[in-house]
Amino acid sequence: MPAAALLDLIGRQPGCLGRPGRRGQPGRLGRPVLLDGAFGTELMSRGLPQGHCPELWNVEKPDAVRDIHRSYFETGSDAVATNSFGGSRIKLAAYGLGDRCAELNAAAAALAVAVRPAGRFVGGDIGPTGKFLKPQGEHTAAEFEESFAVQASALVAGGADFILIETMFDLREALCAARAARSVSDVPVFATMTFNRTPRGFFTLMGDSAAQCVAAFETLDLPAFGANCTLTSSDLAECIREMRKHTARPLIAQPNAGKPELNRAAEVVYSQDIEAFVADVPKLVEAGANIIGGCCGTNPEYIRRAAAVLRAGKS
Ligand SMILES: [Zn+2]
Repeated sequence: MPAAALLDLIGRQPGCLGRPGRRGQPGRLGRPVLLDGAFGTELMSRGLPQGHCPELWNVEKPDAVRDIHRSYFETGSDAVATNSFGGSRIKLAAYGLGDRCAELNAAAAALAVAVRPAGRFVGGDIGPTGKFLKPQGEHTAAEFEESFAVQASALVAGGADFILIETMFDLREALCAARAARSVSDVPVFATMTFNRTPRGFFTLMGDSAAQCVAAFETLDLPAFGANCTLTSSDLAECIREMRKHTARPLIAQPNAGKPELNRAAEVVYSQDIEAFVADVPKLVEAGANIIGGCCGTNPEYIRRAAAVLRAGKS
């Protein structure tokens, strides 16, 4: 699928710069693009054991992985992310699987591509290495880039239409991943950071402000970027509103379904039900989000309901 088709879908010039209230030009769909929801919990509901490497299921349980992608496409996702969130070579090395990085990522992409309907897209998912750059950690930027380059190259070889870097809490690491992806392919590269809400605004764990992230991604000329995870749907709408003040580019919003809590059975549950999450979808759009999906706590049913809201609100 050519990159131009994906960018047409999103709309190249959402154009809100300095003109609050103006929504700008929508993409080909006439509504925001819909991504998928959480993946890890879907794997667990299909039996992924605790502590097992999720990416290993791309070769061990391909039917389960394909089934999840199919469920998101069926409920309305315009694009889904591959089962490769922890697929950087450094992250896989924590499971002793660093030398299978290319194999597991190529398989991840191929599984999603196998169930991709015509006109829909597959994003090669890249998450954090789980390690820190110097001086907080032991790794150099060159080591991170090399690790991400192996992953990105395999995702594109497996058929990914674009790269989706997500849940990054260190802007420097996100930029390593983006540069790496750029160095090995020419598919569009998107990136989302995970922010905490503070009285002073939205900041990553490493202290990067929303405005700093926007500026850095614009400098790298990424066609779309935004925020995912950690924040509830209403807080994430506020975060997008903040990012929108600093950019006219397409923004990505993938909130959690509220805050994680432990229930009586000591299982992690999320504080927002579908009704509360879906009620905020128009707020995300109004705040300036062009690409919307769900993160932790969401599932295909959330996407089905979000799709209905987006279709109903289509101008
Ligand atoms: Zn999340």
